Amino acid sequence: MLPLLTEDAQKPELRSLSLAELQLLVDRMGEKPYRARQLFRWLHFRGAGSFEEMSDLPRPFRERLAQEARLATLVIDTVQQSSDGTRKYRLRTQDGKLIEAVYMPDLDPDEADDDSAAGIRRTLCVSTQVGCAMGCGFCMTATMGLVRNLTAGEIADQVYRVNADLRARAAAEERGSAPGRAEAAGRSMGGERPLTNLVYMGMGEPLHNYASVMRSLELLLHADGANFSHRHITVSTSGLVPNMVRFGEESQVKLAVSLNATTDEQRGKLMPVDKKWNIAALLDAVRKFPSKQGRRVTFEYVLLRGVNDSDDDAVRLSALLKGMPVKVNLIPYNENPGLGFGDPGEARLQAFRKILIDRKVTAMVRKNRGRDIAAACGQLAVQGQKEKRAAIP
Ligand code: SAH
Ligand code: SF4
Repeated sequence: MLPLLTEDAQKPELRSLSLAELQLLVDRMGEKPYRARQLFRWLHFRGAGSFEEMSDLPRPFRERLAQEARLATLVIDTVQQSSDGTRKYRLRTQDGKLIEAVYMPDLDPDEADDDSAAGIRRTLCVSTQVGCAMGCGFCMTATMGLVRNLTAGEIADQVYRVNADLRARAAAEERGSAPGRAEAAGRSMGGERPLTNLVYMGMGEPLHNYASVMRSLELLLHADGANFSHRHITVSTSGLVPNMVRFGEESQVKLAVSLNATTDEQRGKLMPVDKKWNIAALLDAVRKFPSKQGRRVTFEYVLLRGVNDSDDDAVRLSALLKGMPVKVNLIPYNENPGLGFGDPGEARLQAFRKILIDRKVTAMVRKNRGRDIAAACGQLAVQGQKEKRAAIP
């Protein structure tokens, strides 16, 4: 049994291959060249979860593919629905790891810094790693440490599995008699790709899994695949400066930076990455970030009660960002039991925002989505890990 498993792991994972790599594979198999694009479309446009679904590929070709390659399709393990429409998917990888993706319909238009049609926006927050190595003290994912990187195929497949689920739900709602908003939303969904926007803000540090993240973007942006617009994808980083510079040169999608503090003393305590690349180095990288039209960098600032939420913090933040063409997303902390940080509350949040606005810094409040279902980074997957551990006799 064991040698077989090892052999399987060595087979190329089809969903992580570029179209050019699929062309080589198809060529080696003696198949006609156009089969590569056909296969690519099954994998990334239709989001097929199995070879059986690829009905217009000849059966012998599919059988050979199944022998010589792998399809690392994710399985939906749990779905939690929040009262605000947010849906949190816990997904299982083929090797049994749990990751999460959070679906947020109808993001407020005033949160947007892009030009997508106001109203119907369906955003998915995807994970890039199982766990995370960065060790931020307030973050649930950090408590797992880094278990492993996700492959490009696994990053993209979160989008395809959720798209498939959304399509199935919309179809069920159309068939059923459920009246009201849900049905209307289902009817308007249609098409091949319900999701309109992606944010790389789930578990993991995207720029610490650089190659797979870049490949996943190539796949998701591909005209023969999911065909997302680069203006509708944002990658968030805790501040890995050298990779931010590379990312600016090699990608056109948007960047968000988790700042979360205004002095290195404070930030170093919350985010160990600050000891390697401090606030000055981070801001320097943002200033040099190539910002074509509509590609303003966003700063994320998680407000932690009594830690980084004072008027002085807000004044310092305004001074740091003065004159930079950036915007700030203020995020009220979603409390994780046991980590010892608290949500500052609405009044403090608004007072903090007002100080920024008065100083001409664009600042939005990012509504805390899915609070009732623990939708903050890593919360559901960590819960799943504990359940798994508890289940071991
Ligand atoms: N590793 C990347 C992306 C994933 S974390 C990064 O750090 O940017 C995405 C965002 O969630 C970060 O801005 C992080 O500061 C924030 N975050 C983590 N835990 C949170 C919590 N419990 N409540 C609110 N925001 C949280
Ligand atoms: Fe990793 Fe981001 Fe969590 Fe920090 S906030 S531990 S970088 S996922």
